[in-house]
Amino acid sequence: MRDLSAGPRVLLKRLRELMAEPLEPQERLDRIVRQIASNMVAEVCSVYVLRSDGVLELYATEGLNKEAVHTSQLKMGQGLVGTIAASAQPLNLSDAQAHPAFRYLPETGEEIYHSFLGVPILRAGRTLGVLVVQNKASRNYREDEVEALETTAMVIAEMIATGELKKITRPGLELDLTRAITIEADAYNEGIGLGHVVLHEPRIVVTNLLNEDAEKEVTRLAEALGSLRISIDDMLSRREVSQEGEHREVLETYRMFAHDQGWVRRMEEAIHNGLTAEAAVEKVQSDTKARMMRLTDPYLRERMHDFDDLANRLLRQLTGFSGRAFDEGFPTDAIILARAMGAAELLDYPRASLRGLVLEDGAVTSHVVIVARAMGIPVVGQAAGVVALAENGDAIIIDGDDGQLHLRPVLDLQKAYEEKVRLRARRQEQFRALRDVEPLTKDGKRISLQMNAGLLVDLPQLVESGADGIGLFRTELQFMIASTMPKLEEQESFYRNVIKQAAGRPVTFRTLDIGGDKVVSYFRAQEEENPALGWRAIRLSLDRPGLLRTQLRALLRAAAGAELKMMLPMVTEVSEIHAVRELMQKEVQHLSKFGHSLPRKLQFGAMLEVPALMWQLDELMAEVDFVSVGSNDLFQFTMAADRGNARVSDRFDNLGKPFLRILRDIARAGERNKTVVTLCGEMAGKPLSAMALLGVGFRSVSMSPTSIGPVKAMLLGLDIDQLSAELNAALDDTRSSEPIRALLVRFAAANNIPV
Ligand code: PEP
Ligand code: MG
Repeated sequence: MRDLSAGPRVLLKRLRELMAEPLEPQERLDRIVRQIASNMVAEVCSVYVLRSDGVLELYATEGLNKEAVHTSQLKMGQGLVGTIAASAQPLNLSDAQAHPAFRYLPETGEEIYHSFLGVPILRAGRTLGVLVVQNKASRNYREDEVEALETTAMVIAEMIATGELKKITRPGLELDLTRAITIEADAYNEGIGLGHVVLHEPRIVVTNLLNEDAEKEVTRLAEALGSLRISIDDMLSRREVSQEGEHREVLETYRMFAHDQGWVRRMEEAIHNGLTAEAAVEKVQSDTKARMMRLTDPYLRERMHDFDDLANRLLRQLTGFSGRAFDEGFPTDAIILARAMGAAELLDYPRASLRGLVLEDGAVTSHVVIVARAMGIPVVGQAAGVVALAENGDAIIIDGDDGQLHLRPVLDLQKAYEEKVRLRARRQEQFRALRDVEPLTKDGKRISLQMNAGLLVDLPQLVESGADGIGLFRTELQFMIASTMPKLEEQESFYRNVIKQAAGRPVTFRTLDIGGDKVVSYFRAQEEENPALGWRAIRLSLDRPGLLRTQLRALLRAAAGAELKMMLPMVTEVSEIHAVRELMQKEVQHLSKFGHSLPRKLQFGAMLEVPALMWQLDELMAEVDFVSVGSNDLFQFTMAADRGNARVSDRFDNLGKPFLRILRDIARAGERNKTVVTLCGEMAGKPLSAMALLGVGFRSVSMSPTSIGPVKAMLLGLDIDQLSAELNAALDDTRSSEPIRALLVRFAAANNIPV
């Protein structure tokens, strides 16, 4: 191969020197274009920079009229320059004026130049501007000249990224790189987060661009590729990915890319043009990404992510970069941006510094979102393209109430949000003041307010919220964030820790509720057409008694000498409870036989989530110590409306007659059978719904810890007897069509009850 390195190498070296010199930005840019023109034997060299209003402005030129600098401009997609920016592809033309996109700008005096070569200025696949050379004579630029100009554009990209050009940007205008961006996303967890961007997969910044010895760099690249291929093969042969599945598919794609000759050749070419191995990887990565970002096919876009991941791995091999970019100086108001993320990875961040989470993909039920919700941080998801648009340290606001995010927000917006946060904080402060106030209604009824939890990080909130105990401990979360099935000892020590941290307040452990939307990666179930109605929760536990017995044993051992409260999810028939009791009995016998001490007292409960139990209420209550209504599931099954499908989940009102009548029947059955009934679905945490629950007879509810304050504030002003009288009359009235919700709102307003 012909050594192409001499020309570009000399140029890059000179440009690096220019970058380091203490020059004013305009002077630096002017010298850069002069240098490129002379090195490439071009009569013209110009730099266009993309502004936030989508206009490409001429920032410097050698050869065109100097007066055109900062006045000549083209819109994205307009003219040759705009076409290059929009497509992120170079244009190499021997007769520029014959190109259909050519647009004549009289102020530049460019009519005499026939040949035109323009390349996009890219950073992480994002277009920042366009770099152009022109010649009078009609000629075609060689492939190596195109490569060389692209490489040169990387240096200019770096200059733009440093923010240096701000100084020479006309007042009132802004560069695209620092543009304020609002992205409409999905609200996954409520709350407002103001802070600074932390990219979960930090961009590896290659500072060493220029090689001294091309052959040495080619060898380095080959070695790094070799190790990369081996590591992918290793991962593929590991047991966890030996079955079919998504993970395997991704790795297979990695392997395919890692052996792609076109990719390797392009990187080698970049090295021959003067780049180090890492700079070559970065250049080809950025070019490829820029092109693929314009694809709309979701499958191909997904492959783009795979390719990007792979290139990052290669960069890490070459630069030895492994840790986070913020080993020191991690921002105290971090908002994590990730394309996708595992739940355990979120837990690796310093909790006290987390102000929010943004996911490009993800779903509201994904594990990381469940964990983030448990941690009480706002989350937005489906934030398309945000990772490529943000830089570490950028200011950002996320709005988990409305599902929006604002990158590099303007001052006014920031102020408006600061006010919103202050208001929220003031309200929280008022609720905190209620922490030690006993939850007694105005007519003297003591209500049990409990909280839902699932991870150790939730536990401190028990004291902070003033909850009476944990009404629902979702044990499956520990299973969902682990990469392998937690062993007996791990489960036992985890439960023991929970009980210890609860410091005497009761904890209701729910046995494993996996299946449906709660996926455990190492426990592969069959594909099901209707997973919510499928093999899940207690059904799965009874079919895999080993799994359930391990959990029961862990719970019994962890609660030795104390009181153990546990309940079963998704019970459909009372016989299922008998079956679990039998297994429990066996575990108790086993433990006593081996001299283990047992819990002082055992309280056994069932969740009421399946409508079939409504016609077995008396048998059910004769069998258990307490019943906890899982209103999320009970509502979805009652209304035949998928709780995870936004199109139908809000279609029916859970404060409508059918559901409130069901809830009243449950509360009445509880009274009749002297069985405690409680409710632990999301509706318990909304003050108006909680008021309705008290009105139909509930005296115990469990909710997310942040809801305890608002619900307590509601009940302190509530006369339950007065509400019950009105509510029962309305529920019994078969003629009135007034929505019950309207009655409740009216009642609250008339009685000054904060809902
Ligand atoms: C419910 O269904 O209401 C419930 C509390 O359980 P989960 O949300 O975990 O299904
Ligand atoms: Mg449920």
